[in-house]
Amino acid sequence: MQKRWVTAVIFCLAVILMLAAHLSGRNMATPAFTFAEEKEIYLTFDDGPSTKVTGRILDTLKEKGVKATFFIVGDRVYGREEVLRRIVAEGHTVGVHSASHRYDVIYGSDEAFRKDVTACAGVIERCTGVFPHVYRFPGGGRHPSKESILKDLGYEIVWWNAVCGDEEIPHADAETLVKTAISTAGEKARVVLLLHDSAYRAATADALPDIIDHFLENHYTFKVF
Ligand SMILES: [Zn+2]
Repeated sequence: MQKRWVTAVIFCLAVILMLAAHLSGRNMATPAFTFAEEKEIYLTFDDGPSTKVTGRILDTLKEKGVKATFFIVGDRVYGREEVLRRIVAEGHTVGVHSASHRYDVIYGSDEAFRKDVTACAGVIERCTGVFPHVYRFPGGGRHPSKESILKDLGYEIVWWNAVCGDEEIPHADAETLVKTAISTAGEKARVVLLLHDSAYRAATADALPDIIDHFLENHYTFKVF
C-alpha cells in the first residue's frame, strides 16, 4: 500500500513539472503581456537664434514642459547672446549649423568646412560655456568627406525624418505646418522633426503648441540630442 502512495506522489510531481516546463516554454514564446512600444520625438530647430521668434518658441516649450535641440548659426549670435544663453539655461541642447550658412563658403573645401565648424562651436562655447556635440548640415544632404571631418571632431550628425514644411511650402500658415508635421511623422516610432527658428518663418512658432499637443496626446516622449 505504501509503495502505491509513493508511486502516486512521484506521478503527480512529474505531471506538475511537465506542466511547469510547458507553461514556461509557452511564456518565452508568447509573453502573457507586452509593453507598448516607446515612441519618441526630437524637436529640432535650425537657423537661430532669432530676436523675433526664439523667445516665443522657448515660451511654448516651457509651457508644455518639453525640451528641444537648436542648431545655431554662429554669425547670427552677435547681438543675440542673451537669446542663446536663455536656450541653454532652459535645458535645451545647442548644436552647430555652421558659422555663416553660406553654402559656397562651407562646402568650398574640407579646410573651409573644418574652419566653419570650429568657428561656430567657438561662438557657442564663448557665449554659453557649453561645447556643442551635435551637427546639422545646412541644406541637408550627404557630404562624405565632411562627415568624416565631423567624426574626427567628435560630432554626432543629425538628419531628420519628418518636416513641418516651413522650408518646403512657401508661406505656409500654422495650420498647414501642423498637418505637415503630423503627416510626415506618420507612424514612425522615432521622429526627428525639422523646424526653423527664424524671423522669416514666424508661422512655425504659431504652429508649435498644436504640434507638441499632437505628439503628447499620442504618447510620444520628447527627447534631445
Ligand atoms: Zn539652415
